[in-house]
Amino acid sequence: MIIIRTECPKCGEIAIPISEMHLHDNTGSGARYYTYHCPHCEGVRGDEADPKFAGFLVAQGIIPECERFAPEILEVHDGPDFTYDDILDLHFLLDGAEWVQDLASCTEAA
Ligand SMILES: [Zn+2]
Repeated sequence: MIIIRTECPKCGEIAIPISEMHLHDNTGSGARYYTYHCPHCEGVRGDEADPKFAGFLVAQGIIPECERFAPEILEVHDGPDFTYDDILDLHFLLDGAEWVQDLASCTEAA
């Protein structure tokens, strides 16, 4: 089994079995991206795949997936995960008569 050694922005150096790599053909931009789930933080990681690496993945049996997505999906965010409590908080915020002012005050504090 081929192991890809790469670096997760949160966890540092990690090892990913090649079978867990995904190759994406972005139909919007024409670029190719590889993604994987970090085995430690479980975040989706990846980057643009240069033609040599994309060809290597295909030669190893990774079938490219054609899709349209924004490259921002690969951005790393350091904040806490979005939870059901966040949805409930938003629901109660929007249920109030002063929700526009309440929402504006949330962004002013950040
Ligand atoms: Zn990680």
